[in-house]
Amino acid sequence: MNDQDLQRWQQLDREHFLHPFTDHRELGLRGTRVITRAEGAYLWDAAGNRLLDAMSGLWCVNLGYGRQELVAAATQQLQTLPYYNSFFQCTHPPAIELAADLCAIAPPGFNRVFFTNSGSEANDTVIRLVRYYWSLLGKPDKQVIIARRNAYHGSTVGAASLCGMPWMHAQAGLPIPGIVHIEEPYWFGQNAIEDPEAFGRHVARQLAATIDRLGVDKVAAFIAEPVQGAGGAIIPPASYWPEIQRICDEHGILLVADEVITGFGRLGQWFGSQHFGIRPDLMSFAKGVTCGYQPLGGVMVGDRVAEVLVAKGGEFFHGFTYSGHPVACAVARANLRLMREERVIEHLQASLIPAFSRRWQQLGSHPLVGEARSAGLIGALELVSDKSARRRFAKELRAGERCRDFCIEQGLVMRAVGDTMIVAPPFILTETQLDELVDKAWRALDLTQQALGAAAGA
Ligand SMILES: *Cc1c(COP(=O)(O)O)cnc(C)c1O
Repeated sequence: MNDQDLQRWQQLDREHFLHPFTDHRELGLRGTRVITRAEGAYLWDAAGNRLLDAMSGLWCVNLGYGRQELVAAATQQLQTLPYYNSFFQCTHPPAIELAADLCAIAPPGFNRVFFTNSGSEANDTVIRLVRYYWSLLGKPDKQVIIARRNAYHGSTVGAASLCGMPWMHAQAGLPIPGIVHIEEPYWFGQNAIEDPEAFGRHVARQLAATIDRLGVDKVAAFIAEPVQGAGGAIIPPASYWPEIQRICDEHGILLVADEVITGFGRLGQWFGSQHFGIRPDLMSFAKGVTCGYQPLGGVMVGDRVAEVLVAKGGEFFHGFTYSGHPVACAVARANLRLMREERVIEHLQASLIPAFSRRWQQLGSHPLVGEARSAGLIGALELVSDKSARRRFAKELRAGERCRDFCIEQGLVMRAVGDTMIVAPPFILTETQLDELVDKAWRALDLTQQALGAAAGA
């Protein structure tokens, strides 16, 4: 690889490749980083820079890059049966075995899986499933799905409707009918003055108020991420989920956990619902199920819904050409096998999560950090101009973006959601790499502080 390759790629990229969630005019001005290879917790770009990937790709490469077991599983499946569908009474071993494997690790009461290719499709499937469920029960008016502001559930028309991001809706005439949003449990972001536990209960009760306002005969389900990821690593106070569970139970509406990020170990359990003691009826998953080596998603369907679906009969008019793609399923199986053999969940609980939590908290003492929080292997830092007043920087200063750029300069991938810095490191992170992560983050915070000081003083 040489400079000419790099320049050629950057030019072709600019001319032909429309990137997801990207301002292309700005991208043209700022230029791109071409990632060419990866190993373990590190990425390399075409210019030869090494980056510690503290985002595990996009919350998915949980066991790190270069896992030959996953490569072998894909290769072997490509050679045996690269594709077949599961329509028309057909099925194949990788999808069957994976469905059984997933039910074996899921909480009690989950005995069926519907496969998709992504988290977005999984959540579209959720919309179809919950509405179909209520119509099978003779309650076709129970259509409304309640979601949360600032939630991220994907980018297809259905999933984007569930998202609580008004700028996504505005571009496409969304949400689709029958989606209603309530407040998120974001204590820091909402500048709450109550103590976090009171705040958590208070926000959860908006669900009850909204069900009452709409009428329970109109409401099908509530969907939420156990920890909001793309919205800024928002960790609900301990009081929040029990109250949500109580309200769903009391009103008999379905509870859907979007486990696309929190599934498969991220919070130290197979599913984030287990971490919070939630008992959902449906769980959408994707990302970590294959460690990101193949696209795969799906919905774990709890008995309450599955039994109605099966007992009532009738065709569920939904599915994809690649639902349960054999290669993706084979990789997912190998990934779950690796997680069991390497006792990954045990390692996370006993060692990595406590170490990460301890080291991450230390970043909270930096003058620029108004709050350092973490749950499992998800961490967030709130950048502030005034620590005690929890005051944010002016938006034009782009504090988060600057901090992210300084991280990259230091050789660290950390993400900025506004002025919230977030990480979700891979489960194979060593102690030395954890030190590297925290040291580089600290240095980037110093550099951001200097740059903002200069900007403010100028
Ligand atoms: C990424 C994500 C999705 C969407 O998954 P895609 O595979 O990108 O379609 C859905 N829900 C959550 C919580 C996510 O983080």
